[in-house]
Amino acid sequence: MNAYRARPLDELRAAPHTSVSAIGCWIRCSESFKHRYILRTPPSHRPAALAFGSAIHSALAAFYEHLQAYGEKPPVDLLHDTFTGRMDVEVADTSIPLLLDDNEDAGSLKDMGVGLLTVFHRDGLVPDGRVVGVEVPFSVDLADPETGEVGDVPLVGAIDAIVVHGGKTVLLEHKTAARKFTQDRLQHDLQPTAYRYASRSLGILRPGLAFQVLMKGRKPGVDVLAVERTDDQVIEMLNTVAAVLRGIGAGVFYKNRGWACGDCGFRYKCDG
Ligand code: SF4
Repeated sequence: MNAYRARPLDELRAAPHTSVSAIGCWIRCSESFKHRYILRTPPSHRPAALAFGSAIHSALAAFYEHLQAYGEKPPVDLLHDTFTGRMDVEVADTSIPLLLDDNEDAGSLKDMGVGLLTVFHRDGLVPDGRVVGVEVPFSVDLADPETGEVGDVPLVGAIDAIVVHGGKTVLLEHKTAARKFTQDRLQHDLQPTAYRYASRSLGILRPGLAFQVLMKGRKPGVDVLAVERTDDQVIEMLNTVAAVLRGIGAGVFYKNRGWACGDCGFRYKCDG
């Protein structure tokens, strides 16, 4: 049972809100934000990496839910079955085609995921305390630090796992990645900052924060990367979010051509 599961995430998402993903989307390319969140333009495809990451996420959630319920790791088959079941659903959904990389197909993606989860089962973080919650939803008001004004929409999200480890309550963010996280990303990624901000609403003061990154590639591995977030960084995040929301409210949307166009599902709109 999740001690913190007060309102389901679907219910929170049904009401007007923003999220770290939406803020990041606007920062990367506000035109893409407009298509995805305002016009609801159908994308030409779904990047396979997203489907893969989401299936891995489900398997890790199953791992921590089992650990929470039974106090021990589940059999590795539970991870494999959860992952492959979810990938089957993703592949069967032909409403929006999956965009696979060269030399990639559904079978090779499944093999990679099963291999990665076998390594995670061996090396992933098993807390020395208890698992407090898995996929724990939150909804927190957003105040503009400059004006003190509380915005119209809350920040909504879900913390991948909350565990007690090393004498601290630690909020875990799960990722899959092909490359090591850079120091800049570890220091500035908004997700842990948002977790830190939201933690107070869950009654957790000064939590530990960590990325648990499942590294894809020839030598799969698991990196557990502790990060820190200060009060100043939370204020900076609130300033960023307030500026983005002002931009959205003012109708600021423009094409930001660059690396993000590579697998963008709205490119067919931009290219006409
Ligand atoms: S193709 Fe590029 S410019 Fe157009 S919406 Fe996508 S990311 Fe933005």
